[in-house]
Amino acid sequence: PLVLGIETSCDETGIGIVRGDTLLANVIASSMDEHARYGGVVPEIAARAHLEAFQPALAAALAEAGVTLEELDAIAVTSGPGLSGALMVGIAAAKALAISLDKPLYAVNHLVGHVGADVLRSPVGDAPVTLQPSALPVATSGPLEYPTIALLVSGGHTSLLLVRDLVSDVELLGETIDDAAGEAFDKVARLLGLPYPGGPEIDRAAAGGDPNAIRFPRGLSLPKDLEKHRYDFSFSGLKTAVARHVERLRDAGEDVPTPDIAASFREAVVDVLLRKALAACGDLGVPRLLLGGGVVANARLRQVATERCAEEGIELRIPPLSLCTDNGAMIAALGSQLILAGHAPSGMDFGADSTMPVTEIQV
Ligand code: ATP
Ligand code: MG
Ligand code: FE
Repeated sequence: PLVLGIETSCDETGIGIVRGDTLLANVIASSMDEHARYGGVVPEIAARAHLEAFQPALAAALAEAGVTLEELDAIAVTSGPGLSGALMVGIAAAKALAISLDKPLYAVNHLVGHVGADVLRSPVGDAPVTLQPSALPVATSGPLEYPTIALLVSGGHTSLLLVRDLVSDVELLGETIDDAAGEAFDKVARLLGLPYPGGPEIDRAAAGGDPNAIRFPRGLSLPKDLEKHRYDFSFSGLKTAVARHVERLRDAGEDVPTPDIAASFREAVVDVLLRKALAACGDLGVPRLLLGGGVVANARLRQVATERCAEEGIELRIPPLSLCTDNGAMIAALGSQLILAGHAPSGMDFGADSTMPVTEIQV
């Protein structure tokens, strides 16, 4: 089926078009720059930016895919989780399109969409258009094998999922109990005096540092934590540890070695993310790990994931970065998979669900 996907849960206006599992267009307009001076995403600004970006992004996606609205078989939209005001813009647009064009509408879960991104194949030699170009080539992934463990790490989420079936059986194994991993990068960058978004800045600074210079804590990794929080994450203690370390150096009048702190912090985040993800693979006997979310851009996370998965004989799947950060193609892909599995469209009476659980794949 030819499906249009609409994503507006955070600061990216994403419009994607797929045919079956083939990616035809992936247009992303981000309002990231407008949030930079506030050091984080401001919901009202994000919602207004979606309103402004929607029409141009839709036109660009249709042009890239070479299809018309009339030709679509269905429309898919993110209905949660995310920022209510931001979600509402995409939902209102999706409903208006579905009603005026008389097309079925699928309201889907954003987090499951991140997993769905991995089924997409891109026609050879035809890279997706992005208003925010990706540095990485677009690879082809193809059908998911089940079960698979998925680690989703972004500015708003840090979730470990057991995916038995993309369209019918997704289980939440664990998630962060405080800050998301991307949020931790942003906060630590700020206290090191680096600009927002902090992830890429820390990555860059860390490249010249020693990851073993400072032993920062790995959240929820002590034996007593593991009983109750085996697959959960915590990054607020790590952020505090970095803040204390910087404070102590400043109070003592010593230099703050940004590269060493950035590298040691990044190592702590990457280590705990992968330790828990691989523990889940081991415990549950699942030889597959899928990564998704904007933090997947992290060079060290990719490197350590590749090394440890190779050591343990686990197949690692990482979609291209333009499909890891928030985008509409992943929502279209999930819609397309739901249609292929024979699921009925959503009713028209759904709204934004900011806390939509991952077990609710479609409204
Ligand atoms: P959501 O949680 O809904 O997916 P989001 O917009 O916060 O929303 P993304 O756009 O997927 O998430 O990712 C943005 C986050 O990824 C930011 O917190 C940013 O700092 C982080 N990030 C980006 N590049 C890197 C990097 N190289 N290393 C670490 N973190 C990174
Ligand atoms: Mg974003
Ligand atoms: Fe996301």
